[in-house]
Parts: sequence; C-alpha cells; structure tokens
Amino acid sequence: MKPFSYQKVMGITEAVSDLKEKNQSYIIAGGTNLLDLMKVHVMQPQHLIDINGLKLHDISERDGGGLHLGALASNAQTAYHPLVEGRYPLLSQAILAGASAQLRNKATNGGNLLQRTRCSYFYDNSTSCNKREPESGCAALHGYNRDHAILGHSEHCIATHPSDMAVALAALEARVVATGPDGARSIPMADFHRLPSNNPQVDSNLEAEELITGIQLPPEGFAEHYAYLKVRDRASYSFALVSVAVGLRMEGNTILKARVALGGVAHKPWRVPGAEELLEGKEADRENFKVLSEAYLTGSEAFKHNKFKIKLAKQTLVRALMQASNLKL
Ligand SMILES: Cc1cc2nc3c(=O)[nH]c(=O)nc-3n(C[C@H](O)[C@H](O)[C@H](O)COP(=O)(O)OP(=O)(O)OC[C@H]3O[C@@H](n4cnc5c(N)ncnc54)[C@H](O)[C@@H]3O)c2cc1C
Ligand code: SF4
Repeated sequence: MKPFSYQKVMGITEAVSDLKEKNQSYIIAGGTNLLDLMKVHVMQPQHLIDINGLKLHDISERDGGGLHLGALASNAQTAYHPLVEGRYPLLSQAILAGASAQLRNKATNGGNLLQRTRCSYFYDNSTSCNKREPESGCAALHGYNRDHAILGHSEHCIATHPSDMAVALAALEARVVATGPDGARSIPMADFHRLPSNNPQVDSNLEAEELITGIQLPPEGFAEHYAYLKVRDRASYSFALVSVAVGLRMEGNTILKARVALGGVAHKPWRVPGAEELLEGKEADRENFKVLSEAYLTGSEAFKHNKFKIKLAKQTLVRALMQASNLKL
C-alpha cells in the first residue's frame, strides 16, 4: 500500500473542505470496499477522510411520509430497522441478499452506493482497464465477460454496478442527498449512477467535492406487493448475475402502479421510464409480464460469454412480477 495521510473529521463542512483542498482524497466509511482496492493498488488515495464521527447514522420518518436513511447507518441496521422492514420490505430483502452478515454490519448505506464494479480486470493491475486507468483499453471486451453488462454499455467499458441495495432504491424511486461546497442537493436514484460512455472512470454523478449524507425514501413502499429476486452462482456471498426489484400497487388482480429495476445487467440499476405503464390497469398475469420483460430488454446486446443473461433477465423479471402479485409460479 502507498503511504497516505488520514484524518477523522467531526463535521460535514470539514469533510467537504478536505475533499476540495486535498489532492486525491477519498472518504472512508465502513472501508469494506475501499481498503480491498487500496491493498491491490487499484485505488491509491493520498489522503483518507474518515467520516465515522459524523452524525449520519439516523433512520427517521420524514415530514409528509417517507423515510430518511443516514449515510452512515450500516446495511444491517437499515435492513432490520422496524420502519424499513415494515414499510419497505423490498429494500430489506435486497440488502439482505448482499454480501454476508459480517460485511453488512460494517458496510454503510453511502458506501454501498459507491462501491466499485466487481469486473475482475478492474482489480487486476496487469490488464488494461479504462475504469482503472483511462484510455488504457478494456480487457473484458474480448476477454472473459460472463458477468458483464448487456444494456447501456459502451466500447470503453462493459462493467456492471454490483450493489443490490441500489437496485431496490431505484425501483422505490429514492433520492440520494449529497452535500458539497454549495450546500445540499438531492439526486433521483435513477440519475445517481451513470452509464460508462467514453469516461467509465466516473461511476456516479456525485461531484468530487460532495459526500453522501443520506437517502430519502418516498412514502410509497409497496409493502403489500414486492419482490427482490437475485440470481447468482452461490446462494450467499455472491454478486448478482441478474437481479430484479419489483413494487406493485394492486386492487384485486389489477395492477394500478408498477415499479421495476434490474441489477447485474448495466453500469447502473436499469430502469426503463414509461415501460411500467404497459402494466397499469392490466391484470396480473404471465402474458402481460412477458410484454414488460421484452420492453425492459429492448436494445440489449451481449458479448461472447454472457448471451445467457438476456433470457435470464427476461425470465427473472417475469418471475419477480409473479411473486410480487402472489401468482403461482
Ligand atoms: C466478499 C464481499 C462480498 C460482497 N457481496 C455483495 C453483494 O452481494 N451485494 C452488494 O450489494 N454488495 C456486496 N459487497 C459490497 C459491500 O456491500 C460494500 O463493500 C459496502 O457496501 C461498501 O460500504 P462501506 O461503507 O464499507 O464503503 P467504503 O469501502 O468505506 O467506501 C466505498 C466507496 O464509497 C466512498 N464513500 C463511502 N461513504 C461515502 C459517503 N458518505 N459519501 C461519499 N463517498 C463515500 C468511498 O470513498 C469509497 O470510494 C460485498 C463485499 C465483499 C467484500
Ligand atoms: S469492463 Fe470496465 S471495469 Fe472491466 S476491464 Fe473493461 S473498462 Fe475495466
């Protein structure tokens, strides 16, 4: 590991001014991703800003309904919080589908959203990777790309975003609260992560001088009809090949509102704005769900080893919708 300076900050203003003034400075929260990347020299901060002393651990009700999740609340505290379990079980289920109990105790909500891709070439300094080293090439394009993206990729990067939590937050239409030199702003989850385009080294639309302070959940949590379905190689401790988050508002067997997001398929949680309207006012049944799955995978393009993902994503989407609407599989 390269030498770096370290400072524990006790105020948000101090954290922001450190981000602004100190070269190559990174925030450390739980450290479960950042430290791994530092050990293999993929991330090489000159300065670490430890934010664990900030008061960003609360989970509380918001005026007008909805919930606030502090950026430093751990993934375990969030998933098992009675307000989350009761009103946003989709989020609990997604968080608990990720990592392991030990990791979830340490991992924070802010860190979870900003964890880096699990593309194996990104972790391997002996290969070319535009995300790790801009303009060096992308070893995954013609390498082993079984885990890679089928939607929204570019010739510069075909990596996926690994977070389970982010997929549920996208379906729930949450907002990320960020604070920077100009104050606080909230970013819709759909716009928080970005597609790789020609600068895949940038994962999100968070500015370099901003930190995440919290996440806002809207009042509607789809607690009656929801599903988070994660398909992976092992039953635990494994990232998604494909995952689907679904929330439905229903009256009898009729769908009034549907919200869907896919994970494991793109550089960000994948939503197709407007497509869910195909289900609104329709009966919950397999045929209608298939129509939505085709709409969601429109434009998908696979590589040598991940062709299976297109069919898998469609089938997982249909299955998640069946589960959420309590239909027999
Ligand atoms: C073996 C293993 C298996 C895993 N499996 C899964 C899985 O199946 N699903 C899943 O979703 N995740 C999985 N994870 C990832 C895990 O969830 C993340 O490592 C964790 O959520 C990161 O949170 P952290 O607080 O430790 O972040 P850190 O490691 O501290 O930080 C991660 C990044 O976020 C930045 N950061 C952190 N907090 C803030 C903030 N408030 N504002 C601005 N920047 C910030 C840091 O600078 C860093 O770049 C796994 C991890 C491991 C090691
Ligand atoms: S897919 Fe992205 S992260 Fe993976 S090697 Fe290519 S540029 Fe790097």
